[in-house]
Amino acid sequence: MDGLFFTPTRMPPTAFKVSRIQILHRGLTNRCPNCGGRTLFKPGTLFQLNRQCPVCGFLFERDNDEGFFLGSMSLNYGVTLIGFLTPVMLLAYFKVIDTTTAIVLAGVGAIVVPALFYRSSRSWWLMNYYFFLPQHLPANGGKGRGGD
Ligand SMILES: [Zn+2]
Repeated sequence: MDGLFFTPTRMPPTAFKVSRIQILHRGLTNRCPNCGGRTLFKPGTLFQLNRQCPVCGFLFERDNDEGFFLGSMSLNYGVTLIGFLTPVMLLAYFKVIDTTTAIVLAGVGAIVVPALFYRSSRSWWLMNYYFFLPQHLPANGGKGRGGD
């Protein structure tokens, strides 16, 4: 019977100081992916990203890197479409809510949901990058995005 069942093998121990689990946790809680310091956003503002981490100085934004956060906008769009607009459309399709209610909900939700998800989408996009390329984090010996 050996060989018929998948036997998980142990992953080799990571050499990274900051593990992928830590990167996930920091991304989900809007913290710096490099040191876990708070916070990605300027205090007292809702939508302004700090240029760099107030704790470790890690650069969240770079001068030549304007396109990086286009990914977070795509993520935000996808979450709004799949997590909000599709359910509203299905509720209207199956006559749980009437069409006028669905149109109003979709119109309001198309503005409110992306605004509510904005901070998470920025953080999740950074998390996404460093989850797949943890060697780019300065704490792991990298030089940030675009260098290792
Ligand atoms: Zn930091």
